[in-house]
Amino acid sequence: MLQVKNISFSYNKTPVLKDISFTVKPGEHLSIIGESGSGKSTLLKVLYGQYDIEKGNIFWKDEEILGPKHNLVIGYNFMKYVAQEFDLMPFISVEENIGKFLSRFYPEEKQKRVAELMKVVELTKVAKTKVKLLSGGQKQRVALARALAKQPEIILLDEPFSHIDNFKKQSLRRSVFKYLKENNIACIVATHDKEDVLGHADKMIVLNNHKIAVNASPENLYLNPKTPLVASFFGEFNVIDDQIIYAHQLQVVEQSDLEVIVKQSYFKGNCYLVEADWNGETLFFEHPSAVIENEKILLKIAL
Ligand code: ADP
Ligand code: MG
Repeated sequence: MLQVKNISFSYNKTPVLKDISFTVKPGEHLSIIGESGSGKSTLLKVLYGQYDIEKGNIFWKDEEILGPKHNLVIGYNFMKYVAQEFDLMPFISVEENIGKFLSRFYPEEKQKRVAELMKVVELTKVAKTKVKLLSGGQKQRVALARALAKQPEIILLDEPFSHIDNFKKQSLRRSVFKYLKENNIACIVATHDKEDVLGHADKMIVLNNHKIAVNASPENLYLNPKTPLVASFFGEFNVIDDQIIYAHQLQVVEQSDLEVIVKQSYFKGNCYLVEADWNGETLFFEHPSAVIENEKILLKIAL
């Protein structure tokens, strides 16, 4: 189990993380979310042992993870880290990059393993291509496969699908997260994409003001977002009588005290998001069809 106990970290006096504690079990999937600059990447680097923490400790099983002051070579065999900026070898092929750290003494096993990983990250077609010729998204997938090559016990992923286009993203995400679960590899994923979390993560942590604002299951937080910060991660929402109401929880009805005037409709694919005025405040609701501007509409909260 990963045990993070009361850690604090600052870059030259600027505090980034304060009193952070949480645990991750083998095979468990934890998402870290938070606004840009909230410290997600810093937290992953700290967990990897890239920086010395001011206080607290980090353990994976019985081994303490130490920063550069106490550990000459950064990193541990049981843990891999894929940074937001990946560092690959541009002049060798995809398969050579992925197999770079695998033993040359077992060429058949090595080849099989590289083939398996290329399948997981959907790069088989470009196996022989030099990495410098790949797109940003393809490079990100090579970095991912290379981190998985030696079967770590825990992997830290910083916005792992951020460079990958929407055509590929869904299937790749399913493939990678399924692979991690099947191989009992714990993962910590820093992300600002709710699709990385819903349906995949076991737990999620929200970073805010240097601290963990909440730590719960995605289902729990989605149904009970408590704060606007958490709700905003999941989608468009309103605050009505101090209650957080998602746009899809407002329904057009014949009779209601909640009367709004439509301002604009935005096509969202499966519905329209409608922006409306409610006594000077803006309300958002979803509707199967576009609604005409300036029309009066009655809404009801349907939880
Ligand atoms: P996130 O990944 O959530 O966007 P980061 O961990 O990158 O956040 O950044 C957290 C804070 O630390 C930000 O205020 C950022 O400017 C600062 N920061 C990040 N890296 C460094 C660094 N190498 N030196 C000094 N400050 C940094
Ligand atoms: Mg970041």
